[in-house]
Amino acid sequence: MIFDILTLFPGMFHGPLNESILGKAQARGLVAVRVHNLRDYAPDRHQMTDDRPFGGGEGMVMKPEPIVHALEAVAPLGPPPRVVLLSPQGRLFDQETARRYSGLERLVLICGRYEGVDERIARYFVDEEISIGDYILTGGELAAMVVVDAVSRLIPGVLGNEASAEAESFREPVLEHPQYTRPQDFRGYRVPDVLLCGDHRRIARWRRRQALLRTRERRPDLFARLTLSEEDRALLNEGEDAP
Ligand code: SAM
Repeated sequence: MIFDILTLFPGMFHGPLNESILGKAQARGLVAVRVHNLRDYAPDRHQMTDDRPFGGGEGMVMKPEPIVHALEAVAPLGPPPRVVLLSPQGRLFDQETARRYSGLERLVLICGRYEGVDERIARYFVDEEISIGDYILTGGELAAMVVVDAVSRLIPGVLGNEASAEAESFREPVLEHPQYTRPQDFRGYRVPDVLLCGDHRRIARWRRRQALLRTRERRPDLFARLTLSEEDRALLNEGEDAP
């Protein structure tokens, strides 16, 4: 899958996207991340990419020309892309969106800065606006990295163990069960005995119950969307286990 990122700060991407799983995915040709400097697409000789808002007000607004010139320049560099503007006013990015994007061949991500982007970009030049959460970042770069990371790990072959993407939180609207590793006893805090019993069916039932309990407690909004099986109901009615 190809990601084309349009940004005023290309240097921000070097470290985070070239380490670990994403670095390997790129080295193996499963993912390509191409970062384009919007300043290179500014039409005037001062390479202006922002200007004062019409109607007055604080701060600067990103001009439409550099963004549209960049979109036009990258358009022929691969299959037709889905174009996404990172914006706190967009639809909330979630695992379902990540899964939908992971099926695409190409995604263009536009990173805003300052007071945001001229509204005509959102209206006429992008397919959708995406927010990574109800808070304001200084720019869209970190949001774009979040999208690239969450989408890339769903692309077949990117994670060493495909099963881990299957089991984890949000595969269905349920949080993942608690995980433990060695040592068995850390400063007196012990791993639950059930995980050491070697009975895989018992462990699976314990994990499912823990996942349901913590979803109900921590994310009642997700729990309300969950379709519980007969077995789930029975598990929830069992006596309390230590977490
Ligand atoms: N004045 C804008 C508003 O209130 O909607 C906020 C602009 S913000 C300081 C600058 C840029 O950061 C935005 O154009 C967007 O690209 C990015 N950004 C900020 N918060 C974001 C979020 N929660 N999700 C995605 N992008 C975000």
